[in-house]
This record gives sequence, C-alpha cells and structure tokens, in this order.
Amino acid sequence: MFKIIARKGFYCPRICCTNCGEPIVDASNAVVIYPKDVDEGDVLFYVAHKGGCDRTLTEMGGDAGGTTELTTALAWMLQNAGIKTPEDVDRAFTIADMTTSL
Ligand SMILES: [Zn+2]
Repeated sequence: MFKIIARKGFYCPRICCTNCGEPIVDASNAVVIYPKDVDEGDVLFYVAHKGGCDRTLTEMGGDAGGTTELTTALAWMLQNAGIKTPEDVDRAFTIADMTTSL
C-alpha cells in the first residue's frame, strides 16, 4: 500500500507492506503480488516483504498467482509514469533526497 507520511511539514510517500504495515526500506526484499490468469482489465496488487509477509498474503488469497520483485515493478511504474531518462531520474531523486533526511 502507498502511504504519505508527514514529517516536519514535508510529505514523504512510502510503500508499506500490506501484511504488516511497515515501510518497505529495501525494494529487493519485497514483492508485488497480483492475480494470475487475467487476460484483460485492471487488477489490484499487494506489496509485501519477502518471506513471512508474502507467504501470509498468498495463503489468504489462495492461488494469488504472480509475484514480481518490487525493484522490477518500480522500474515499470517509473517508465509508465514518464520517468524514463537519467535526467528524469536525477530530477526525481533530487526532490526525494530532500525529504529522506528528515
Ligand atoms: Zn511485512
């Protein structure tokens, strides 16, 4: 799930685990879980820490189907949102860096 966390007057978007609610601080240690076998249409997805959290969500949803590491999913999301060039990434990270030190 996505959350906006307010700190010292700044708003920091965070991705949090759907299972435990804690922020994801290492994208390589998290997955996106989504239903498989959908030919067309929008589907909801969950984000979970690898290990116990993603196992719990998958077991709750039965055969949830697909998983993609969060690093890959974020790269797709950035591309789909128009952040495609190194300059686009640099600009976005400059803004993000201002809030991570808070
Ligand atoms: Zn978790």
